[in-house]
Amino acid sequence: MSLFMSQSVDSLDNGIRSCKKCPLHKKRTHAVPGEGSSSASLFFIGEAPGRNEDEQGRPFIGRSGKLLTELLKSINRDRTDVYITSMVKCRPPKNRKPKNTEITTCKRLWLDQQIHMVQPSIIVLLGGVATSCMIDETTLKNIHGTIQEKNNQQFFVTYHPAAGLRNPATKKKLFKDFQRLKTLIS
Ligand code: URA
Repeated sequence: MSLFMSQSVDSLDNGIRSCKKCPLHKKRTHAVPGEGSSSASLFFIGEAPGRNEDEQGRPFIGRSGKLLTELLKSINRDRTDVYITSMVKCRPPKNRKPKNTEITTCKRLWLDQQIHMVQPSIIVLLGGVATSCMIDETTLKNIHGTIQEKNNQQFFVTYHPAAGLRNPATKKKLFKDFQRLKTLIS
């Protein structure tokens, strides 16, 4: 049995909660493994936990999370129907961008295993950090709202909900992208 096959959701989550493999563990209150259905066909990846997530150990529960929940509702999905996580599982100090070494360590140890376990049909990349790390694309402008294929996995690219909160035009694009996603999955 491979390493991947032997992991259960619970053991992965426990591993993430006690992980000390990068400096982000030093300032965290709680690591945030992710949540949702372990057999979800849609798997959402954000950037990093923020203050609320760090306090409660749950992903996307602040203002961005509220918008993500609304976006899911617009495609007739509930948070429990999908899987939601972030590139790194611990809050970077002062919400700075996660560093490349933090991302690659966390991805190799945890995110790759989560994806392998859930085996989603589509991975939804929320924002530039997830997009550049997962499919090496540096700008969302021309590819948001589209499927990109890499290593036999389909990725759907869109903006991070936090960008939608900052800019009403981006929020509109997010809802439009999600309607496109809805047609792709129906
Ligand atoms: N932004 C993210 O990328 N992840 C969270 O969990 C919360 C906000």
